[in-house]
Amino acid sequence: MCHWCQQHGDRDNRWYEKLDNYMFTRIFPEETEREKAKAQMKATFSETEWRYSDPEFIRNKRFLQDRASSGFGSQIVTKEEMLRISRLADEAVKREDSIMVVGHCPCRLVLEGVRDYVCIGFGMPVTMSMELGYGRLPNEGLTEYGGIEWRELRRDLRKGVKVPLKLEEAEGLIDEWEKRGLWHIVMSRGRLPLIEAICNCEKRYCTYWMNRFRSGVPEYVLKGHFVARVDPLTCLKCGSCWDRCQFGAIHYSATSDNVDIDATLCMGCGLCDSACPNEAIAMVPREEIPLAQNLW
Ligand code: SF4
Ligand code: SF4
Repeated sequence: MCHWCQQHGDRDNRWYEKLDNYMFTRIFPEETEREKAKAQMKATFSETEWRYSDPEFIRNKRFLQDRASSGFGSQIVTKEEMLRISRLADEAVKREDSIMVVGHCPCRLVLEGVRDYVCIGFGMPVTMSMELGYGRLPNEGLTEYGGIEWRELRRDLRKGVKVPLKLEEAEGLIDEWEKRGLWHIVMSRGRLPLIEAICNCEKRYCTYWMNRFRSGVPEYVLKGHFVARVDPLTCLKCGSCWDRCQFGAIHYSATSDNVDIDATLCMGCGLCDSACPNEAIAMVPREEIPLAQNLW
């Protein structure tokens, strides 16, 4: 169990398996706390893209460390976990009369100028960020969400019309993202343990991933709760898995004609598992692998 599960989970649930952690009103039960969170959201949500596009900031270790200590962070999960997470998010938004929306990845926009709709935001933070007026920002990256102009979306929300992403749509998207070879993270954007978004990433774009190394703070992207293990008896040595691993954890040795997964490098994304044509890979709980059990 990771330290976030110890702090924010319970006996039966990891931190991201607990419904309360998706609910703004449970994390901030008092009105004064909610107001404070709103103000903090206003201060930090808007800065994400312009700060990440500014080399001064992305190299500023102290800034990144302070940010992490204020509750920014994420953890890698498998597709199966991500599907369960989307169900919890859907349940939470129904209870809080909020919405789930698909949005573009800010990291890809900043680094490549590409709008790739591979993130899902949900809950009160999404609704409130619209109410706070982000459509007015000069930053074009935040002027729309899910292909809909913020202004229009806010206007509709004020009229009581909601433009939600349905659970079945979210599940279909997660499936597509897995096929594309994107790994999944569940994240908090400064209000840990409040879970506010899921992202589907690639190492070359993900600023959270880069921040893990720039800042030396692993909480930017914690390793997942599972580690991949290959069964040499069923492995066909076809190469599908090592093409999918973005973390250099899978190696083929021509000398021994064996596929090996380095448990110390495995992030637990499960992409190799879903690519294997012969079910030769199993995702094993991290605590069962002595070499990796304390690596997060
Ligand atoms: S070996 Fe690579 S692809 Fe497989 S779970 Fe680990 S990090 Fe993901
Ligand atoms: S994808 Fe499966 S069968 Fe192919 S090399 Fe990897 S573990 Fe072996």
